[in-house]
Amino acid sequence: MARPVRIAVLGADGRMGRALVRAVLAATPRAVLAAASERPGHVSVGKDAGVLAGNERAGVEITGALPARGVADVWIDFTSASVTESVAQTAAAHGVALVVGTTGLGTHARAALDVAALRIPVVYAANYSVGVNVMLKLVADAARALGPDYDLEIVEAHHRGKKDAPSGTALRLAEAAAEGAGRDLAAVARYARHGDIGARSATEIGIQTIRGGDVVGDHTVFFLGNGDRIEITHRASTRDTFAVGAVRAALWVAGCQPGLYDMRNVLGLGF
Ligand code: NAD
Repeated sequence: MARPVRIAVLGADGRMGRALVRAVLAATPRAVLAAASERPGHVSVGKDAGVLAGNERAGVEITGALPARGVADVWIDFTSASVTESVAQTAAAHGVALVVGTTGLGTHARAALDVAALRIPVVYAANYSVGVNVMLKLVADAARALGPDYDLEIVEAHHRGKKDAPSGTALRLAEAAAEGAGRDLAAVARYARHGDIGARSATEIGIQTIRGGDVVGDHTVFFLGNGDRIEITHRASTRDTFAVGAVRAALWVAGCQPGLYDMRNVLGLGF
């Protein structure tokens, strides 16, 4: 039998980090939790990652630094956008594969992933749920088939603690809609409406945000026509859906050549 893929979870005491620790432990014997890290000085440093995640002891203490060289085959990073650049640089220097779920990345962090992908395999996805990745294809197909008579609008809702807006998934959905409709998202995205704004233009794609409560993640894409409309909705009810997808990506990417991949590659979705 092939040896298990050694996975390190970064941000291990975060909302996603705890779900990731559980998902890695549940993927035994294909995966093993090799390391768990938090930011320096975090209260969880020195504690057992399995216990913090609500499981049995995993025998893996949370460290306040990135995993040491050679400890893991893959790092999974769901931390903070300000951290991703140095994570990508260190992963590339260590020759370890990388799965990044952190959203709200700026241009430097995105560029750092591109540079790292010259040396190591990197998966980057704004949403690791299998359902959302199928929805991306449905949205692109619908936008293409419905044509210019349908107005495109996207609404997303997330819990009150989410820091970036709109969600990375809403942006990916907007890209898929724009691609299907043959438009340049940068030119047509409309992120806010307030005051005497005039009539809607035919080509704009509206992207609106709701924040509150414990909403794990809801996304609806509206195709609004004269006399009918289509709404495609995805609702995540637990973070485990993202964690299971990210662990699937980690198991897949461990054997890959250097390059930048996304969930379409992991799932073999041909679009
Ligand atoms: P969170 O704030 O609960 O957790 C982030 C954790 O990262 C915290 O525990 C923090 O201490 C830790 N951290 C910060 N700096 C660190 C460092 N240098 N090294 C190690 N750990 C560090 O946030 P969350 O809700 O778990 O979300 C984390 C990220 O994942 C966000 O960007 C969120 O949008 C994204 N997310 C992505 C998906 C997806 O499918 N791609 C799904 C859910 C959330």
